[in-house]
Amino acid sequence: MMHQMRAEYGAGGPPDGVRLWHMVRGAGSVAMCGRELDAAAPVREAADWGRTPELCCHTCGAYFLRETPYLAAEHQ
Ligand SMILES: [Zn+2]
Repeated sequence: MMHQMRAEYGAGGPPDGVRLWHMVRGAGSVAMCGRELDAAAPVREAADWGRTPELCCHTCGAYFLRETPYLAAEHQ
């Protein structure tokens, strides 16, 4: 199962920039933590998890780690 990161905007929407990165399965717009994200929000490769200047969602991180322990372990 492929994963990718998808951005959550700040309260003001896209002009506020990225507030938090979530992880989604496939090309979906619902994060693993259950949050619905803007389908037009920026995405990044799952390999960038933990490497962005913005924070990553802790709940998504926990699910991601459970589903892809080997991939996630490379990024400890
Ligand atoms: Zn999340």
